Amino acid sequence: MTEINKNKSLEELGEFGLIDHLTKDIQLKNPSTVKGVGDDAAVLDYGSKQVVVSTDMLTEGIHFNLMYVPIKHLGYKSVIANLSDIYAMNAHPKQITVSIALSSKFSLEAIEELYSGIHLACKNYGIDLVGGDTTTSLTGLTISITVLGEAEKDELVYRTGAKPNNLICVSGDLGGAYMGLQLLERENEVFKVNQHTQPQLEGYQYILERQLKPEARKDIIQIFRKLEIKPTSMIDISDGLSSEIMHICKLSNTGCRLYEDKIPMDNQTKAMAEELNINPIVAALNGGEDYELLFTLPIGDYEKVKNDPDITIIGSISDANEGTNLITTGGSAIQLQAQGWNSVK
Ligand code: ADP
Ligand code: MG
Repeated sequence: MTEINKNKSLEELGEFGLIDHLTKDIQLKNPSTVKGVGDDAAVLDYGSKQVVVSTDMLTEGIHFNLMYVPIKHLGYKSVIANLSDIYAMNAHPKQITVSIALSSKFSLEAIEELYSGIHLACKNYGIDLVGGDTTTSLTGLTISITVLGEAEKDELVYRTGAKPNNLICVSGDLGGAYMGLQLLERENEVFKVNQHTQPQLEGYQYILERQLKPEARKDIIQIFRKLEIKPTSMIDISDGLSSEIMHICKLSNTGCRLYEDKIPMDNQTKAMAEELNINPIVAALNGGEDYELLFTLPIGDYEKVKNDPDITIIGSISDANEGTNLITTGGSAIQLQAQGWNSVK
């Protein structure tokens, strides 16, 4: 970023000046990117591959709160959420477009920060930023990102392929992003009452990172190739385990049994849940924003995944007529709901 621009306001820079400022250092990394920013459209060459497209929109006040989310992290996380959707297809993300609507309250520095997070995510995951749109809004910030990825036809994994007796697996651990959010919101409430207080965040680095700087599980789809496995179905966990497994079961026309005591959770997630009097299993089932991968495997793959530290087997797929169930530590079956569960059978 040049010194001259540092002192300019967004208004002085103008739309074209801003776009140029935000995109001028982009160096294209992927052979499939023929033309990036600078023309009426980007040009991509995918040869004989299948192209995977996904898009997400985030609105200030609904999806993020700039009172406690550093804007650089917001940029990073907005990209991550999109990449995660492509990995969930067992595909490789390659390009993104970024569209922003800005109100006059934003300084050039703030938008530079947003883009530094966006560029960092692109660098870490080998993604080309190939276009976007820039417009004004009356209040707040809206970010819309579209991601394109590629895969061979027979690599792609949909939500529809789970079969009875398949293993249900999850990467990483769950509930952390939600507990990180609860902590940030608690400290924000304290701050609103007394602006001289320092937030009490010590000891909770991991869950704060899960909320503020999540990563997408590129490594897991690489593990699949290494172990020579292909999931029968897959989805990323953006809304919570409960609603995601229900999507798989509905679209695959199956039921499931998830085991409460198998669901992986970090100690900080459990500690924060205890401090706030929340059942940690609720954070894992309903919390969301973990960006882990939930997938099903033929039972024959058990030996390949059973000792992998990044993968946990949490249950099995059953017939549709058995319903979608959580088997509690006490052994009873509870019917899952998109937001938790309703009745004990
Ligand atoms: P048009 O008038 O055709 O919509 P623009 O002037 O909006 O074109 O955009 C010019 C170029 O800059 C295009 O390549 C577009 O994709 C890119 N671009 C516009 N806004 C952004 C942004 N916020 N981030 C990245 N690229 C952008
Ligand atoms: Mg435009």
